[in-house]
Amino acid sequence: MSQELINWSKKNYSDLPWRRKRSLYNTLVSEIMLQQTTVGTVINHFDKFINKYPTIEALSKTSEEEICIAWKGLGYYRRARNLRKAAIGIVEDFQGKIPLDFEKLKTIPGIGEYTASALLAIGANKKALAIDANLERVLSRLYRISVEKGPKLQKELKTLFEQGKFFKGRSDLNWRNLNESLMDLGRVYCQANKVDCLACPLSKDCAVAKENPLIYPSKLKKVKKRESNDLELLRVLVKKDNLFLAYKKSENEWLSGQKEFPTFILKTSDKSLSQYPYWDGQVNLNLKSLKKFKTGITKYKITNYVLEISEEKWKKSFSCGKRRFFFVNPDSKDENLSTSSTKAVLALNK
Ligand code: SF4
Repeated sequence: MSQELINWSKKNYSDLPWRRKRSLYNTLVSEIMLQQTTVGTVINHFDKFINKYPTIEALSKTSEEEICIAWKGLGYYRRARNLRKAAIGIVEDFQGKIPLDFEKLKTIPGIGEYTASALLAIGANKKALAIDANLERVLSRLYRISVEKGPKLQKELKTLFEQGKFFKGRSDLNWRNLNESLMDLGRVYCQANKVDCLACPLSKDCAVAKENPLIYPSKLKKVKKRESNDLELLRVLVKKDNLFLAYKKSENEWLSGQKEFPTFILKTSDKSLSQYPYWDGQVNLNLKSLKKFKTGITKYKITNYVLEISEEKWKKSFSCGKRRFFFVNPDSKDENLSTSSTKAVLALNK
């Protein structure tokens, strides 16, 4: 494995915020942030998050709502909740010290196989491979491995690594640098649909550099496209001064922990949907006259209609059911308001 690769990675990417100041905790945070989010986005959030939560203890003491606010802009909020659970587990079961043992790491809530490997390899510079989508792709090309990408390929790569089939003759490897440089390579030169083998620092070592690298790893067999459902929602805006009526989404609802304006289902092709109450004509509606905007979540393509009503009309015509409503300031960053609610205010003011 070429030293050229590591030199290239260090020269270009050693200044990433989570590489500047190393610690196991920083690695835990950055690796969870980097799952499903681009490096560019994480760069904009990492330092701010670490300043707010400088230690595992600080993170373990935060509330679910607070961590979701600090996570805003990174998306996939489940990761924020898992990170908090991991911090609580580390404080409760390991006296606040991240254990350097693969099996122990996997017992911590919110830490799976990938994060455990990343903590060992990148956080502690121990012999391990953090097989993310980049490593999966790069290794399958470097060693010409024709296994369908996904869990099967990850298992195969893990086995070959444990059998010592990779990086032969390199007993001096720095595991942190190796993992990070392979990730950088996958992001820059060896992408899923584009390669630059001429510029790649590993072209001399690569089994497929002179073939067609893009056929590796083999693609997953086409699964039937997930059906999409059309959904029409009514977002009710009840304004008092500059505040709007909202409720907090509960554990089993979409975007749990976030706040949202009262919302009703107007029309759906999925009769099993129970995320919101169904509209039952509480006030007269003329949909054509309402402002609207589009959003999407899971398999739903959503048309959102925006209805503004007075607090008096709300109290007279709507029953709150189990929900507890309160007023929020949509301009405050601390409110953790759902994107759809923010969009509803924008649509109304258009
Ligand atoms: S030589 Fe090409 S296929 Fe091989 S690792 Fe580099 S970019 Fe990927």
